[in-house]
Amino acid sequence: MPALILDGTKIAQEIRNEVAAEVQALARAGVRPGLAVVLVGHNPASEIYVRGKVKACEEVGIYSEKSTPAASAATAELLELVEEFNRRQDIDGILVQLPLPQQVDSKKVLLAVDPAKDVDGFHPMNVGFLSTQRPGLVPCTPAGVIEILKRSNIPIAGQEAVVVGRSDIVGKPAAMLLTNANATVTICHSKTRDLPGVSRRADILVAAIGRAGMITKDFVKPGAAVIDVGMNMVTDPAEFQQFFAGNAKREETFRKKGSTLIGDVHPEVAEVAGALTPVPGGVGPLTIAMLMFNTVKAAKMRRGSGVAELSRI
Ligand code: NAP
Repeated sequence: MPALILDGTKIAQEIRNEVAAEVQALARAGVRPGLAVVLVGHNPASEIYVRGKVKACEEVGIYSEKSTPAASAATAELLELVEEFNRRQDIDGILVQLPLPQQVDSKKVLLAVDPAKDVDGFHPMNVGFLSTQRPGLVPCTPAGVIEILKRSNIPIAGQEAVVVGRSDIVGKPAAMLLTNANATVTICHSKTRDLPGVSRRADILVAAIGRAGMITKDFVKPGAAVIDVGMNMVTDPAEFQQFFAGNAKREETFRKKGSTLIGDVHPEVAEVAGALTPVPGGVGPLTIAMLMFNTVKAAKMRRGSGVAELSRI
């Protein structure tokens, strides 16, 4: 039986609706959550991401403010900007869009963000809160992975979970969240011996690698839930054929745009997995939804109105 396709777009919309309702409740108490986005230079991909984030703010009723320093901006200038947003009472979340230009000390800039406003959840203080299961701000993409599993009624407690990838922004926090949800977790990376064998142990397999279609059928235990975090652009027609030959819809997109998005999971995995997130339309939409969630959570935490309703993650 082909895998159940987990509709990330639908789940993300559910979360956005819940956040919008929270924003309305806060408005009745005279509070409007605010998000500051810092976009340095003119990276086309970053510009698209930031546009999506600002639009999502508008849709759920969050105030947003975009700051666009020049590509030549120095670390000191960005630190000053972050400090300004740290001081502002109307700003609850600060997002510094990565990557920053080479001359900028990215770690220093991220460290300058007030942990209470760190809606990306990258600050070491929030990393510590996550690992010690204290309330804090959780990185958006891994939080989205957990939301997909929970809202699709896929059991986590007691399950074997394998996370392929150990980055600070996806792999490690995803593994930590799964551990906190009582899965038995293995983290894999480029030095893992027998990656297919280890991956095949998983009831829940999370792929966060950045390699198009690397996870093939032989990595997957029949019936496993496979969460594909990868986002890779395919532009080479031969590579396209290798993944999508015979897929009329994809072929049309590829013909029109000259590219298509593929995850880290090969499409053939749908033949063995029990459930699978598509790319696009899987984890991707959750990332922005969880950013909205985090901004409202930060507003509630900072402004002392309690986080009970929004602290499920
Ligand atoms: P990253 O920082 O490059 O980390 C990749 C991880 O994969 C590393 O831990 C690396 O191992 C591991 N890896 C690379 N090649 C491998 C191989 N052949 N076998 C086993 N492990 C291997 O990437 P990232 O930032 O975590 O992102 C991962 C993917 O998720 C990318 O496609 C990215 O575009 C996507 N992403 C999507 C969203 C979203 O919203 N959907 C958000 C963020 C990222 P080592 O540590 O040993 O090098």
